[in-house]
Amino acid sequence: MKKYIVGNWKMNASQSFVQRWAKTFSELFVPLEGQECIVCPPLPYIACLSASLPDAVRVGAQNVCEAPDGAFTGEVSARMLKDCDVDHVIIGHSERRSIYGESNELIASKVVAAQKEGLTVILCIGETLEQRDDVEKVLASQLDHSIPEGIVLDKLIIAYEPVWAIGTGQVASLEDIEKSHKFITDYVMKKFQVRLPLLYGGSVKPGNAADILNCDGVDGVLVGGASLDPQDFHKIYSASV
Ligand code: PEP
Repeated sequence: MKKYIVGNWKMNASQSFVQRWAKTFSELFVPLEGQECIVCPPLPYIACLSASLPDAVRVGAQNVCEAPDGAFTGEVSARMLKDCDVDHVIIGHSERRSIYGESNELIASKVVAAQKEGLTVILCIGETLEQRDDVEKVLASQLDHSIPEGIVLDKLIIAYEPVWAIGTGQVASLEDIEKSHKFITDYVMKKFQVRLPLLYGGSVKPGNAADILNCDGVDGVLVGGASLDPQDFHKIYSASV
């Protein structure tokens, strides 16, 4: 299984930031066999970032509308993303779930919309601090309800992101990462008879990336804060070899 290194810039950037980031990252970047690098900037910067990076670095989106087109002010459809050469979209990030109240059912309908246009979905799941005693129950429920009927399995990547570890500097222990990854992998295998790529996310930094990427069942990382620094993000990209 190849390794995926995915950057999520969240709502950070400007035109000059994009230019500087792309210049520095492009100078450092050498495509590594068996690795995929995907950067997800805010929507207005997708085209400009895409044009400034080597083809081997893919540019993805952080969200998508569940509807195909029409009167949905402020939303962006999967067809529009595809039209802008986007192949990957993050769906169900914990910030979408908690700040914007996205339910598993809405997330499942976004997955359907994205896959209808051929996009590969990076589906985020993970427990909150309050749910830590019930991790497996929470993960099972998210897997059951965020993955729609008729899912295209070869266009689905799962990101396990314990919510308490996102942007906090608090990383799950390697044992906990392996335990949750094994649970998710087994659950998915039982349900769909397939081994899906499974990423870890939550305060991944250059200093812990190699250990995390070497954990059993970890097929890559979803990186928030550290992806804003092109040098740090490149160190994380290079840490998996
Ligand atoms: C994220 O936004 O998905 C994330 C994991 O953020 P951070 O790396 O900053 O914890």
